[in-house]
Amino acid sequence: MPFHDITGHRQLLELIARAALRGTLPPSVIFAGPEGVGKRKAAIALAQFFNCPNRSDRDSCGTCPSCSRIARGVHADILVVEPGDTGAIKIDQVRDAIERTAYRPFEGRRRVVIVDDADALNVEAQNALLKTLEEPPAASTFVLVTSKPDVLLPTVLSRCQRLRFGRLAPAEVASVLIRDHDYSDRDAHAAASLSEGSIGLALEGGTDEFVDARAAAAGLLEIVATTKDPRRRLDGAKALSAAARGASDRDELGRRLRALSSILRDLGVLVSRADERVLANADLRPLLQRLQRSFDGDRALRAFAAVDRALAALDRNASPKIVADWLAFQI
Ligand SMILES: [Zn+2]
Repeated sequence: MPFHDITGHRQLLELIARAALRGTLPPSVIFAGPEGVGKRKAAIALAQFFNCPNRSDRDSCGTCPSCSRIARGVHADILVVEPGDTGAIKIDQVRDAIERTAYRPFEGRRRVVIVDDADALNVEAQNALLKTLEEPPAASTFVLVTSKPDVLLPTVLSRCQRLRFGRLAPAEVASVLIRDHDYSDRDAHAAASLSEGSIGLALEGGTDEFVDARAAAAGLLEIVATTKDPRRRLDGAKALSAAARGASDRDELGRRLRALSSILRDLGVLVSRADERVLANADLRPLLQRLQRSFDGDRALRAFAAVDRALAALDRNASPKIVADWLAFQI
């Protein structure tokens, strides 16, 4: 997958491509950032860019034999080291990779060693890497990919330039779910709005759970938007805290509260007339427009803060029912 097929991270990817083109990208780098945002894909794209005979100044072609062999994981000069069955990356795997970098690239211009989930390197394996990271063999680049860079030894960190990948916008997550994972528009937005900017997280949950959570959140907002009647608000709270399909009350309420946050954030976006392309729940536009009449900027902000407090209370083990009841009177 060349750089242009990776969703998000535009500036960072352009910077990486420019540095690779000029030969100024350090030979040992860490791609750090949240789980499931495309770091490994970016490392593969870098390997393609280094080796593509048809590349432009900005990207590889993605279709030549070199690019497609790298994408399929069968290019002789691109090594991916990753955790084995034990969940760890062991010293033998590292030694093997280092040995293979001792020779000139076999079919390409530059050898790339990608250590995925680099935080799984055990201590001996990290120590075995030190000398190579300090002075990689000619025509070799080492890319350590990790969501937990701080788990690595300081001696490893100090030898690598760290490049930070951020979270994706919900709209970006949704577009990937639709394009690459056959999600419907509704399922993609529901999952993306609760994904915390990670495609990995969005794919982990069942789409039904995401859709249900968002529907429950929307239901409560529609009730509180139009009524001050305490009984109706309590009914709304009950609907919000009722567990669905055997999920634990606490997990389910947490998911619904995050869905509430996501919708309230979108209301804030609409009120401030910010770019509507950043809406997490763009597919719920009619609902958002209805709610907008009751939730002016201040109310949306207050409600957003209340949901935040509710999530914190839930984390501290407060009873889901009490949290939901309290919230129904705050928003
Ligand atoms: Zn190519």
